[in-house]
Amino acid sequence: MKECRRCHKMKPLEDFHRRYGSKDGRNSYCKECANEAVREWRRNNPEKAKKHAQTSYLNNIDRRREYGRAYYASHREYYAAYYKKWSEEHREEISERRKRYYRIRKESA
Ligand SMILES: [Zn+2]
Repeated sequence: MKECRRCHKMKPLEDFHRRYGSKDGRNSYCKECANEAVREWRRNNPEKAKKHAQTSYLNNIDRRREYGRAYYASHREYYAAYYKKWSEEHREEISERRKRYYRIRKESA
């Protein structure tokens, strides 16, 4: 059991968020109070909270974009080889489709 520094209730350790680097590895506020403290901080710092939300959103977008790029870069050869193989296997089908496409274009022109 541990006493919450905010509501001063004795609560089991599981009711405290993990916090590495602290003496017992747990937050000094219980989860309920930690949530309440965040809510209060947001209420008192609406501008900061907004900016914070925006930057973490933008950071996430950047990270996601980075990830996509890295994924594609590391699989580029795989995709290129896959497409090459596919187009070789479907050469007739592709040329057939192309012919049909041009025919339609000619007929409708
Ligand atoms: Zn508390």
